[in-house]
Amino acid sequence: MDDVAQVQCPYCFEVVEIVVDPATRGELIQDCEVCCRPWRLLVRRRRDGSPLVTVERAQ
Ligand SMILES: [Zn+2]
Repeated sequence: MDDVAQVQCPYCFEVVEIVVDPATRGELIQDCEVCCRPWRLLVRRRRDGSPLVTVERAQ
């Protein structure tokens, strides 16, 4: 089962739900679904394995 996390876009400030593969850790680049600008996502894991996702501008 994939994990879901909510992030707020640093460009358009929409809150967007993203699906995070359970094996994903570290940095990845993904475009905002709303404004299509690139995010740099940093995926960390809590002790229970749930994702802790922070987002910043990739440009
Ligand atoms: Zn956006």
